[in-house]
Amino acid sequence: MDPFVAKIIYFFGYWLANFVIRAPHIKAHQRVPVRSNRKTRSDTRLFLTVGVGGFLVPLFYVFSPILSFANYSIPLWIGVAGVVILIAGDWVFWKSHKDLGTNWSPTLEIREGHKLVANGIYSRIRHPMYLSIWLLVIAQAMILPNYVAGFSGLIPFGALYFLRVGREERMMLEEFGADYEQYQKRTGRLLPKFRSWTP
Ligand code: SAH
Repeated sequence: MDPFVAKIIYFFGYWLANFVIRAPHIKAHQRVPVRSNRKTRSDTRLFLTVGVGGFLVPLFYVFSPILSFANYSIPLWIGVAGVVILIAGDWVFWKSHKDLGTNWSPTLEIREGHKLVANGIYSRIRHPMYLSIWLLVIAQAMILPNYVAGFSGLIPFGALYFLRVGREERMMLEEFGADYEQYQKRTGRLLPKFRSWTP
């Protein structure tokens, strides 16, 4: 894919779209007091690294020649497949924010009046927001023809996901007990659970 086209697609389809989808939720969630906070220093550091890798480094690539030493070429079909994944990622990102509402938080927290959301996209998948970020950082790698800017989202998010998801589920189990246990049985972490077909 032409690097100029890739830059435009990344900037509007990933960078701006994410900002527009998340911004109203940041305001809304700040109004709800935190009841229990599991955030550690390493959580904050990882969260910042994901922000830098997913948003800041690619911005340098889009608007300056500073990363041009790491340019390479990506076959068009990979770029086009990346755009399809990007659109899917944006949709899942939007839908998971909408369904989670003010129960969303950027780190591991339980808010006042926290409810277990098990409807909408959460009725089949426990971590649709993390699924959406996987899709977005994979799309970033497939669209941006630059080794640094392309992979700067995928690697830190992979680390954040694997370090966080188990702890998040333990926190939810402590908070919601049997309800969360039941919820775990009927849902998949990132993809829906397909029950075996019975006549
Ligand atoms: N892991 C989820 C949510 C990410 S936001 C996803 O990928 O979609 C992280 C916060 O969401 C956590 O601090 C937790 O308090 C909250 N959370 C996670 N799953 C939830 C659920 N099913 N219902 C309500 N809150 C949830």
